[in-house]
Amino acid sequence: MNRISGKVVVITGASSGLGEATAKHLAAQGATVVVAARRKDRLDALVRQIVGDGGTALALPVDVTKRQEVEAMIAQAVRQFGKIDVLVNNAGLMAIAPLSAVKVDEWERMIDINVKGVLYGIAATLPLFEKQQFGHYITISSIAGKKVFSPGGTVYSGTKFAVSAIAEGLRHEVGGKIRTTTIAPGLIDTELKQGSSHAESLQAVGELYQSQAISADAIARAIAYAIEQPSDVDVSEIVIRPTVQE
Ligand code: NDP
Repeated sequence: MNRISGKVVVITGASSGLGEATAKHLAAQGATVVVAARRKDRLDALVRQIVGDGGTALALPVDVTKRQEVEAMIAQAVRQFGKIDVLVNNAGLMAIAPLSAVKVDEWERMIDINVKGVLYGIAATLPLFEKQQFGHYITISSIAGKKVFSPGGTVYSGTKFAVSAIAEGLRHEVGGKIRTTTIAPGLIDTELKQGSSHAESLQAVGELYQSQAISADAIARAIAYAIEQPSDVDVSEIVIRPTVQE
């Protein structure tokens, strides 16, 4: 039996992109996946597909910017399956635009989803992980959490620098029994590229992704690698990008 089989993995942002690919990949290896996001129809279709392929999955609608909804999602997952082995804090928004466009609403959305959403996930699971004496946080940061892409990537990068720092601090605080992995992807072909309302940036991002992006399966495999290590092995960080990306 592999070390993924039998694990209960909660994945936020599982209605598309990296989260959806990860759910399918882990379920195919015997994990029980709890798929969470706002678009219930997409989650239901994903669950139907996983179950049709012989896997186990549960759809739980959640808006990660609402702390109570995140807590309710985690509580429901525990009621249903008795434990959580892994939380993949993945839900995210990338609204690329120069600061001079003053898209303050989008700055706030990114901070709410990419940073506060991650913190709410930690808050809802940390007491459980400590009680269980096991758990694994997988935080989806970005290469934009190491380097600021400009023009336009400033606030998005700010959120990803923040979650990288939070994940690193989390590792210092809870390491021992609870594992922490930060994944820093490069350009991956998902809906993320459509997140901006700034037309010029949207077009530039679209062209960049068209020429360089790789499949979300690359990230699903990286996440599986971190999970399948023995419990005394912490894969602390994985940076993964298209070969052609600088
Ligand atoms: P997608 O746009 O395909 O997926 C984003 C997911 O987040 C969707 O499932 C969306 O679901 C969910 N989401 C957004 N807002 C909320 C919310 N308020 N509450 C709950 N769920 C929410 O993009 P990716 O799969 O690419 O993005 C996943 C993560 O990977 C993000 O954190 C992103 O920053 C990161 N990343 C992506 C890269 C890329 O090039 N694609 C590169 C580096 C990092 P719904 O709308 O149904 O709620």
